[in-house]
Amino acid sequence: MVQNEGHACLVCMAAGLTPLAGGGKAGQNPGGMETRFFTLLAMGLCLAGLPAVAQPKSAGTPDPKLIEDLVVANRVLSDQGVVDGFGHVSVRHDKDTNRYLMSRSMAPALVKADDILEYDLDSVAVDAKGRALFLERFIHGEIYKARPDVKAIVHSHSPSVIPFSVSQTKLRPIYHMSSFLGEGAPVFEIRNVAGAGSNLLVGTPELGTALAKALGDKTVVLMRGHGSVAVGSSIPEVVFRAYYTEMNARLQGDAIRLGDSITYLTPQEAAAAAKTNAALVMRPWELWKRKAMKSE
Ligand code: MN
Repeated sequence: MVQNEGHACLVCMAAGLTPLAGGGKAGQNPGGMETRFFTLLAMGLCLAGLPAVAQPKSAGTPDPKLIEDLVVANRVLSDQGVVDGFGHVSVRHDKDTNRYLMSRSMAPALVKADDILEYDLDSVAVDAKGRALFLERFIHGEIYKARPDVKAIVHSHSPSVIPFSVSQTKLRPIYHMSSFLGEGAPVFEIRNVAGAGSNLLVGTPELGTALAKALGDKTVVLMRGHGSVAVGSSIPEVVFRAYYTEMNARLQGDAIRLGDSITYLTPQEAAAAAKTNAALVMRPWELWKRKAMKSE
């Protein structure tokens, strides 16, 4: 989808500067016919819709390392099976907390630096360059608004998580690597906001706001019948969380299939382990990065 929020009409404004031909008499206004034609054309173009609200200004060139890491994150998440043709990762701009960076609408495995666009927190692209944007970009903008501590976000449909989004069984930390899940991940029920016939996508600012509310102060929120969102304080941390959310879901499903009662991490164990792991996120990041970027 090409960005289409809001419409300003430069053509109409230009037409407004042109003498209107409506009241002109033949002879007094030799250019009347052409002017009338131009005015009608301008009005038609306005109805067709051109960009309306002024485009947000750029916060300036981001740190090149941030762009590089964002490209790597796209490749790693794809390489590790967290995202496939769908899913996205974003990072808050280092020069302005009211901007974030994310690729145009495309498969994460194919993202290059040139595909990264800058967005404001209403998820309007500073310069879309005529490219299609993710329908669900509001996930990112609205969470950045609600959570100043969040610096990076991953949205995925990673498969093992889906059963927990539709079941009464909560996704809870089954081992230390997923201790950031704390007391368990909340579930966003889009039906409560979008009604019975939605397409399940977070395609409006209102749905993004509701999702951010469901996330609350947690690290991960599941989306019923859809996927999940992980948030973090850096790109390596959010990739770590997205990966280990999927891994936890797989292991928790395995444990449930064993058929007896399961011992989860206590909230105290989860908090202690999460604190320790927060300092270790660079270790798997470097490994995943080397694997994913091997062909470069
Ligand atoms: Mn989605």
